[in-house]
Amino acid sequence: MKKHNFSAGPAILPRPVIEASAEALLNFGDSGLSLIEISHRSKDFVAVMDEARQRVKSLYNLNDDYEVLFLQGGASLQFCMVPYNLMKENGRAAYLNTGAWASKALKEGKVFGEALAAGSSEDANFNYIPKDFSLNEGLSYFHITTNNTIYGTEIHDLAGLTAEAREKGIAVVADMSSDIFSRVLDMNMIDLAYAGAQKNTGPAGTTLVIIRKSILGKTGRSIPTLLNYQTHIDKGSMFNTPPVFAVYVSMLNLRWMDEHGGLAAMEERNKAKSEVLYSEIDRNSLFEGTAAEADRSRMNVTFVLKEKELEAEFLQKAEQAGIVGIKGHRSVGGFRASIYNALPIESVKVLVDLMKEFELSHS
Ligand SMILES: *Cc1c(COP(=O)(O)O)cnc(C)c1O
Repeated sequence: MKKHNFSAGPAILPRPVIEASAEALLNFGDSGLSLIEISHRSKDFVAVMDEARQRVKSLYNLNDDYEVLFLQGGASLQFCMVPYNLMKENGRAAYLNTGAWASKALKEGKVFGEALAAGSSEDANFNYIPKDFSLNEGLSYFHITTNNTIYGTEIHDLAGLTAEAREKGIAVVADMSSDIFSRVLDMNMIDLAYAGAQKNTGPAGTTLVIIRKSILGKTGRSIPTLLNYQTHIDKGSMFNTPPVFAVYVSMLNLRWMDEHGGLAAMEERNKAKSEVLYSEIDRNSLFEGTAAEADRSRMNVTFVLKEKELEAEFLQKAEQAGIVGIKGHRSVGGFRASIYNALPIESVKVLVDLMKEFELSHS
């Protein structure tokens, strides 16, 4: 039966990307060898890494002030590398606390200095993006999470939200794990962006970092080699053995995005999918959305059944329809439909039809 994969991460990738990856595991570029049994220093693999980095640069129109890195350790290691590389000795940094991941980033920041929540939506189970906050002068950086994977909120006015930081010369750091490559974005607003690959970039195992090089080298602290961004910039993400398979699949996925119209087309697809789903959530008498309307995510759509007792039945019907991965995160409950780039609108329509049928069967 055809599956409709709404998993939050690791998540759906385009079928042609999966097929080409499987082929490269057996016979990489007609070499008679597998992609995972050749040297990462071989000409063929170096070309993969170069293409992956180059495609990120071209998708975001990045100039030479920026470098693109493929690292390891997930977005979670970035919670540590960011303060290690950017927090001045005895310095301070501000975090916008918009969810579980933002809280974890903040907690790690506190290991290195005075890390404060500039604003928080914890009072409302993180169902909105705080916009009323102010930033002190002299902060080492301002950390935001552009899309909150668990709670289904997303920063739509990135320019407005980062304006004060930019005016005050504070570096803007963004955890973009779950909405990177989902929309057109002026990266000049952001000094450092990072994303665990397994949501919209590729498979688990690599972490994308986009960094404005001029923000480095200002902390006054010594940084262990492997945790120092400069190490990876100097060595083109090849200081040590990179996760070759994860980088290869990410490169194919970046190619796929380019071949399908780039970020403008991704944004259009994601807008269309999310509108179809949110309008059904709002229309259907049995369901309701959990995120504040103005901040609704176009990547992770969170909703609940008004009658919680119906949840198990809906999940069972979903499974019968081939719908996978819509059980909500335990901290929100209900359902979460992750509709990343690779998810076709047809899958969203299958879910919407099921919601309609479910309403009929309970009226
Ligand atoms: C999934 C996720 C993370 C954690 O990523 P790992 O690669 O598993 O460390 C961090 N931040 C956000 C916003 C996420 O969605």
